[in-house]
Amino acid sequence: MSIFNFAPEKLFCRLFAKIFERRSFINISRWPANSFPWTQKKITFCLSFDCDTEKDTAALPKIIEILECHDLKSSFAVCGQMVKENPQIYGSLIHHGHEIINHGFSKHAEIQKDGKVISTIFYNELDEVQIRKEIGDNHQIVKALLDYEMVGFRVPHFGTYQGKEQIEVINRILGNMGYLYDSSMLMVNAKKFDLLTSGIIKEFPLTPLPGFPLSVFDSWSLMKSKKRTLNDFFVLFKKMFKYALESKDPILINIYVDPSHIVEFEGFRKSLNHIDNIREHIYNNSYRNLLEKNTSMILDSDLEQNYRGKE
Ligand SMILES: [Zn+2]
Repeated sequence: MSIFNFAPEKLFCRLFAKIFERRSFINISRWPANSFPWTQKKITFCLSFDCDTEKDTAALPKIIEILECHDLKSSFAVCGQMVKENPQIYGSLIHHGHEIINHGFSKHAEIQKDGKVISTIFYNELDEVQIRKEIGDNHQIVKALLDYEMVGFRVPHFGTYQGKEQIEVINRILGNMGYLYDSSMLMVNAKKFDLLTSGIIKEFPLTPLPGFPLSVFDSWSLMKSKKRTLNDFFVLFKKMFKYALESKDPILINIYVDPSHIVEFEGFRKSLNHIDNIREHIYNNSYRNLLEKNTSMILDSDLEQNYRGKE
């Protein structure tokens, strides 16, 4: 190699970008110890699913199998209309120990004849009364059909409802309904609006892509992105956990995917295999279990069970 090929300034830039990316990811994802019951594991990993179309419903039996295979508990955001059409499938999520969370009553995505998905029902276009009805109607139908009381909420079309006044509307509605938490905000916004340590409604903010604090890590954005594809999923996933393990403080990794996007996707299975490899550093549960139960107790019994399973 010729000495002229060596460009120290380029190397420095790359190194700087790398360190900055790692630092910013850790800073954003750091979870204040006083915000939630903590589990003594470095990483708390929450994996949730947004069920938006019939394709998502159809993918659920296989998703349940996959989660079982990796011993993961998840939260599934569901809308009432879809539960009404397929109560058995949604009920089976609960039977397998997963959580169902309120995603509004109306379907907010339609599959067209050419297979394209059109987004409908944006909460930023609804007033508080309409939003209250959406959330309340979903609660009623899930309670009636599945005999299940939801305690958490995620706004449809993540990222379209990120303002301070908007989260106040949601928290007002959820507070009146006796809900425990919301999971609709980006990490940077949750910290900016002080949602982690204050208020009755807890926020489980979503993890950003490493290096992009304003872009959420989810299957939809990767598929829509001009710069990235779903194939980047595994690389980015591994990177997130690498950075998180390098952190001195506890980290929340909270990501969501759409069931139909990832059910047959190799990168998703590879990502979950990666979780298996570093499982000793990870605590996983549904949001509900994290909040409702004494997590250190859960952790101990989980560990015990794991050891027993290995004997
Ligand atoms: Zn959705």
